[in-house]
Formats: sequence, C-alpha cells, structure tokens
Amino acid sequence: MNQESATAIYWSSPYQQEINAKITKIKGSEVQFSQTFFYPGGGGQLHDKGRILYLDTEFPIVEVYKKDEEIWHKIKKNKEIQFEVGIEVLLKLDWERRYEFMKAHTSQHLLTHILMKKYDCKTLKANFEEGKVEIEIDKKLNLSDIFDAIEEENNTLNQDAEIISIIVDQETYSKRYKSITRGKTSDEDTVRLIQLGKDEGFDLVCCGGIHVRNLSEIKGIVFDSYKGNMIKYFVDKHAINFANEQRLLMNNLEEITEKKGKKLLEMVTNKIRNNETLVQGNVKLLKMIFENIKTWSEEINDKHVTILELDEIDRQIIQSSAKELEKDSFLGLLGSNSILYLLSSLESLPANEVVSKLSSKTGAKGGGNKSFAQISVKDIENPFSVLKEIIKEI
Ligand SMILES: [Zn+2]
Repeated sequence: MNQESATAIYWSSPYQQEINAKITKIKGSEVQFSQTFFYPGGGGQLHDKGRILYLDTEFPIVEVYKKDEEIWHKIKKNKEIQFEVGIEVLLKLDWERRYEFMKAHTSQHLLTHILMKKYDCKTLKANFEEGKVEIEIDKKLNLSDIFDAIEEENNTLNQDAEIISIIVDQETYSKRYKSITRGKTSDEDTVRLIQLGKDEGFDLVCCGGIHVRNLSEIKGIVFDSYKGNMIKYFVDKHAINFANEQRLLMNNLEEITEKKGKKLLEMVTNKIRNNETLVQGNVKLLKMIFENIKTWSEEINDKHVTILELDEIDRQIIQSSAKELEKDSFLGLLGSNSILYLLSSLESLPANEVVSKLSSKTGAKGGGNKSFAQISVKDIENPFSVLKEIIKEI
C-alpha cells in the first residue's frame, strides 16, 4: 500500500484501533509504516498517540506528523530492541483520546453550522482538547444567542443524524459541491467533504479531520465561557461533569439567595467542615457570594455594608476569594474564633482604616491593608454595633 492510500485509513476507518504494518523508513527515533491510521494533526485537531507492539514489548508513539505527504511517528525506543526496515509490528491507537477528539471536533461542525444559520456568524478558528472546544467567531453575539445555539445543538445531537465522508477529485468538487459548501473552499486535487445528516444533509464543509459516525454518539455540550469572541464549551462526559459541578454550585446559591444573610455563611461553613476536599468548590461558592454580596447589604452613609457571623471558616479561603468581592462593597465577617475579618472594595472605606479606628476605640489588636484586614474582638461586647458606629464616622 502506498503512502497516499495509507493516509486515508483514519478517514475510511476512523474506528479502527489496531493494525499490522511493516516499517518502511527509519530516521533516528522516527518511523514510517506501510500503512497507518494515526492522524498527524491539523485543522485544530491534535495528532494521535498510541503504541507499537513488537517482540512482546510496547513502544509509545508520542508524536505523529505529516511532512511532504509522508506520515512520521516519533517513538520512545529502548536500548535492547532495535527496529529495522521490513519488520512487522502491531500499531495500537490511544483510542480514548482519539474518540474524545472525534466527538469534540464533530460537535464543533454542528455548532459552527448553527451559528451561521441563526446569526450569519462565521467561525474563524477552532481548537480542540480532550473534551473541550474553543471557537473564535467573527462577530459579537449576545450571551443569550450563544445559549440558544447551544440548546439547538443539544437538541440536534439527540437526533439520529449520520455523518458522511465524501472524497472526490477537484473537478467533481468544483462542479457538484463547491457552490453548496459552507466555509473555506478547497483547491486540493483530492477533496474531502463532511456532510451532517443523510442524503443532502444540512451542512457540508471541506474537512480533513476525524469525525464520529453519528451525532447521537455525542451526549451533549455545555457552555463554559464567552470572552473576546471566543466561545468555550465542554463536550460529552466532560460536559456532564462540568454541568453537575455548576448545578451543585447554582443550587447552593439559589438556596442561599432564598435564605439570605446569616444562613448563607452557615451553609458555607458547614460545607467546609463536612468536606475539606471540597475547598476549591467552596472558594468558588464564596466568590459567587461575594459577587452577589449587595443582596444582603444595608446602607450606612450611602455605603453598601454587609455584616455576617460565621462558625468556622478558613482565613486563607476568605482572603483568596476577597478579590472577587463585588465593586463598592464592604463586608465584615465574624468568625467563632472572635476574629473580625473586614473586606473592602470601597475606596472611601479602607479595611485597615476601620481596623485602626476599632483598635484605638477598644484597644483590640489588628491590622491589614485597605482591601483585607482583621482584628481580634474577643474583648468587645457588641462588635457589630461598634463597627457600624465607626463606619458612620468615616
Ligand atoms: Zn471536520
């Protein structure tokens, strides 16, 4: 089999995971085979990885690339076993990784199609990681438009839509397909087209990447972020994991918003106490609280001030989340250790100034900077009312 037809195995048999091949060329630690299904990368999709099995020993294939129409495989060799041209080996694909790329890549075809159809919005660039996609679009959309597009994608994924690979020569392409292809056209001698849906399908593009056979293999996508015309989203099991995590945080926030005030911190502290491994999640949760802190605030001299009592909370967690405090807010947190933590994003009410006034008024010890300060209030009878008095004075 020549190299030309060898390169097409990942197109014709994208689900093949093992294949026998002979070594045809060796260059240092790089090898060519009589046939290969390893994708050399391209179109935003990374190259495959896998292994060679030879003399009962496995050699990892760490990189695959295409140069001058030839596919090279970089192999992690060992000193005992030498490769020679002509020997037969078994090639094994790192299937899990490849399949995630296939799903991510195919999901992007569909989203790009939907964005074009709904908003006449082109995709300029796409990058894929395992379970994660980012695409750059050519215009600014509303977040709600993107949510709508993602919802439409998820509805479409549920349908039983086949993905068809069409390989034609340039002449056939120009005559029959060029005018109905979305996106970039091709001037290659052999053109590979990908059609979503049977018969005439609903989307047709030129693409040399690897795709799943049916859209229903992708269990769904979940929005991650939209910044500077870049949309990021998760795919399949990564989407499900991400969604579950978000749902948990959102549920907590919803509950918190209902109960408000004191209850809110009780919940956070209980969470921290009950599961220390969830510290990262709690930082996120605290950030969400901080971003919504005005919901629970009262106004003192036109300043939004929130004062809450909490049981156990780690100073480092509060401090690391403090950056996320909503603008023009002031937060006082009293812990069961009788330490009053003050967080401020108010220029007119620096946390350290409040602490130094508290200190000179009561003799308590404390310190900090203008955004985060703390003071021991174990000898102050009613620290909250003293704090409010001081805020009124500043
Ligand atoms: Zn593609």
